[in-house]
Amino acid sequence: MDIPRYWRLKNQRYRLQGKKCLDCGNLSFPPRLVCPKCKSRNCEKHYFKGLGTVYSHTTIYQAPDRFDHIAPYSVGLIDLEEGVRITAQFTDVLPADIEIGMKVEMVVRQIYEDGPKGPILYGYKFRPIIAA
Ligand SMILES: [Zn+2]
Repeated sequence: MDIPRYWRLKNQRYRLQGKKCLDCGNLSFPPRLVCPKCKSRNCEKHYFKGLGTVYSHTTIYQAPDRFDHIAPYSVGLIDLEEGVRITAQFTDVLPADIEIGMKVEMVVRQIYEDGPKGPILYGYKFRPIIAA
């Protein structure tokens, strides 16, 4: 990913910014120009809380080049509290400890380092909420 694209996506990556349709109330992530439900363009920014439940998960052993150094790692589908399903990487948890139905929260983590002199890019990942 190049730098301009990174900065353009910064809010989306750090704060889980999506869109809310003002006509039908549908929430979407990633944000879309047009409401996927009613095709309205009458949408505003919506920030998700970053809390959700694991819907499904899988562990990647053969990673694409830039993720090679962190393989194996786990990714999954997460149902946000707001009712939107997103794809994300897990962090702070062993692959074997991830369970369907587990409560998770968003944290900002390093995604990859873009070469030895390149910037370190950060984005959202999800980790289990440890019950108090
Ligand atoms: Zn709509």
